[in-house]
Amino acid sequence: MALKTYEEYIESLKKMRPNIYKFDELIEDVTTHPATRNTVEGHSKTYKMLSDPKEKEILTTTSHLTGEPISRYLSIIRSPEDMYANSRMKRHMYHLTGTCTGGRCAGWNAINSMFITTFEMDEKLGTDYHQRFLTWLKDAQSRDITIAGALTDPKGDRTKPPSMQDDPDMNLHVVERRDNGIVVRGAKIMICGVAAANEIFVLPGSGYREADKDYAISFVIPRDIENLTIVETRHPSDMREYEEGFDIPVKDGGITQAFLLFEDVFVPQERVFMAGEFEFSLNAVKYFIAPYRAAIGGCVAGQGDIKIGAAILTARANGLHSKVFSDKITQMHINNETTFGMGIAAAAMGRKHACGAWMPDTLLSNVNKVHVATLPYETSRIAQDIAGGIGETGCMPSYKDFNSEKYGKLIQKYMKAKYSADTRTRAARLVEWTTIGAGVPGCMHGGGSPDGAKLFIKALGGLEQKVEIAKRLAGISEDVKDPEKKK
Ligand SMILES: Cc1cc2nc3c(=O)[nH]c(=O)nc-3n(C[C@H](O)[C@H](O)[C@H](O)COP(=O)(O)OP(=O)(O)OC[C@H]3O[C@@H](n4cnc5c(N)ncnc54)[C@H](O)[C@@H]3O)c2cc1C
Repeated sequence: MALKTYEEYIESLKKMRPNIYKFDELIEDVTTHPATRNTVEGHSKTYKMLSDPKEKEILTTTSHLTGEPISRYLSIIRSPEDMYANSRMKRHMYHLTGTCTGGRCAGWNAINSMFITTFEMDEKLGTDYHQRFLTWLKDAQSRDITIAGALTDPKGDRTKPPSMQDDPDMNLHVVERRDNGIVVRGAKIMICGVAAANEIFVLPGSGYREADKDYAISFVIPRDIENLTIVETRHPSDMREYEEGFDIPVKDGGITQAFLLFEDVFVPQERVFMAGEFEFSLNAVKYFIAPYRAAIGGCVAGQGDIKIGAAILTARANGLHSKVFSDKITQMHINNETTFGMGIAAAAMGRKHACGAWMPDTLLSNVNKVHVATLPYETSRIAQDIAGGIGETGCMPSYKDFNSEKYGKLIQKYMKAKYSADTRTRAARLVEWTTIGAGVPGCMHGGGSPDGAKLFIKALGGLEQKVEIAKRLAGISEDVKDPEKKK
């Protein structure tokens, strides 16, 4: 089986051991529980839509390993065109779900990172990680699984490396090496879409030195593996347990994040792709963030498209012509196309790695990350500006009050503007969902903090080269240097 149906995907989640909690309660079935079913439905679109040939073209590709049709989320990115397709698919997924399907996308980037990193490790160290990885990947493609990606450790004191922390578990690490695998302890936190995932791909959270080699680990595990406990975080989607009707504007989509608690989890050898090779940990992170930070521009552009549509629907429901907001809409378009286009540029300016994977340009990807941490907030601000108070904070009665026998008619009377109360409310709720509600993706910190991206930009920006250009043009022959540091 290369491509699963919707039913097969749902069935695969139902079969898993329940190990996800929220509000101190075990979630027995992630496909029906109110806290997780919407994120499952969102991710399920990547299976459900395959019956439509147009959607199938966006969501699938051909495995370069087997020649079989596979989900794009399980593919190796081998050309700039693959990266363009990545950005386009992510924008499109927002249009389909109203939000992020991070339980597939972070895992996809992890796969691509370790495809390259294991190749480099084998070349330098003579290990067999790459072959091991390919064996797992072929199997994953044939099972068409959904894979979450986990890099972020709790980290503890940010000024200290893992081995210097008071508590050694602040970063996920190996506590035992056996002939047939490793045992790991610690946590990964804020992990997207885990409830919708069949497996979780773990990467090191940072680049490490020798003293921290037990933290340089990468592996993939079933989501329901023994000794792994998962806790869903609080999130605007919490309210779904209490809300109904138009209070949940998007029923089959919704982002979730989780804390993964590893209490001595045994990972069999064939699923381990790094176990102590600290010199390769930074590359593993770099190869993750380059495609991630390029294509996330497509994600936030997709979200921005919905913000434009929802804000203008609210304005029209209020009786206003969209021309009133023409400059503001143009600014929203500019913001969306900047992050989308920047991602495409990073893809176009990338390079082919010796292993055959395509790596987007690191400088441009990181510049995009900074735009992604900035521009969508302006787009949200403008959407709320256009929609009015009912879109800004959800300043309107609930679906239940709207339908109250006692006062519902009055609520509806006063919610009506040019168009019906129902239309106006639905449009405004969508503004709320995309700007402050459950549909908001991690623009600021998803894929790493903007300050982290700025470190790459500083290193790769080529300051001295630019000084030399200016010197030549200005006809300066003196060696103009920064002043010596004061002792
Ligand atoms: C919606 C969302 C989805 C996410 N999904 C995933 C996922 O699927 N998988 C995953 O692995 N992670 C995920 N993350 C986590 C994300 O990668 C992290 O939030 C991000 O890497 C930043 O780490 P942090 O939150 O611990 O922030 P911190 O590390 O605490 O950073 C906070 C601030 O302090 C600064 N800072 C940190 N350390 C230092 C230092 N030593 N010196 C100076 N400044 C410092 C940072 O630049 C930043 O400005 C997600 C996050 C969000 C918000």
